[in-house]
Amino acid sequence: MIPPPLVTFFVFVFGAILGSFLNVCILRIPLGQSILHPPSRCAACGVPIPGFFNLPIVGYFLLQGRSRCCGAHLDPRYPMVEAGTAFALAALWTLYPPELFGIYALLVSGLIVASAIDLDYLVIPDFLTIGGVVAGISLSYLFPALQGKQDPVDAMIRSSLSAAIAGGALWLVARTASWFLQKEAMGIGDAKLLAALGAFLGWPSLPFLLAVSSLIGTAVGIGILNKRKQKLGIKVPYGPYLALAALLWLLGGMNLFSKYLSNNFIQNV
Ligand SMILES: [Zn+2]
Repeated sequence: MIPPPLVTFFVFVFGAILGSFLNVCILRIPLGQSILHPPSRCAACGVPIPGFFNLPIVGYFLLQGRSRCCGAHLDPRYPMVEAGTAFALAALWTLYPPELFGIYALLVSGLIVASAIDLDYLVIPDFLTIGGVVAGISLSYLFPALQGKQDPVDAMIRSSLSAAIAGGALWLVARTASWFLQKEAMGIGDAKLLAALGAFLGWPSLPFLLAVSSLIGTAVGIGILNKRKQKLGIKVPYGPYLALAALLWLLGGMNLFSKYLSNNFIQNV
C-alpha cells in the first residue's frame, strides 16, 4: 500500500505536468495551432526548449525567469498555471472519489485554459464553452453521481436543465445590465461559460457561482479602477471570476451548501 500523502504528492506532480500542457493549450488554441505538435518552443525565438528546462514550476526558477536561448523574459503566468493546476488537483483528490476527481480535474483544466484565453483575448472559444456543455451533459449520463443521481437519464435531464437555466439567467442579467449602462456590459461568452458550469455542477451551484463571481469581480474591478483610471470603460473579462467561483464551489462551497440545506430544510420535512 502506498501511503495516502504520497499519492496526493503524485497527483500534485501530475497536476504540475498537466499545467505545463495547459500553458501550451492557452498559447496555441486561440491561434488555431496544434496542441500536440511541435513540442515546446521558446515563445520569443522559436528554439525548441530542452526537456530539463521544461520542468513544470521549477524550470521557471532554474532559468530565473529568462529563456536560455535568447534571454527573453518568461511570462510568470507559466509557473502560476502549473502551480495552480497542481494545487487544485491535489485538493480535489483529497476531497472526492476517483471518478468525480477525474471529471472535476477535466473541468478545472478547461476553466484554467478558458480564463487565460479570456484574459488575453476577451473571448472564450466556443470549443471550450459549448464543448463544456456537451461534455457536462454526456459525463452526467455516464457518471450520474456527478448530479447526485443514480439513474443516467435523470442525471442527464438535471444537467441539461441546469445548463439552460444558467445560460438563460446570465443572458438576462447581461441584457438588462447592457440596457441600463447603454453599452455591452457582458459578453454572450460568459453566459455560455456559466451554462457549461451548470451542466457540470448542477443548478444548486448557480446562486453561489453568480454571487461569488460578482463579489470577486467587484473587488478586482475596484482595484483595477483605482490603479488605472484611464482604462475606465474597457471591457473586463468575467470568465476568470466565474472560473474561480466554480473552483471555490468544488473546494468547499458545495459542502457548505448541502450542510445548510440539511440543517434548514431536510430536517423540517
Ligand atoms: Zn528564445
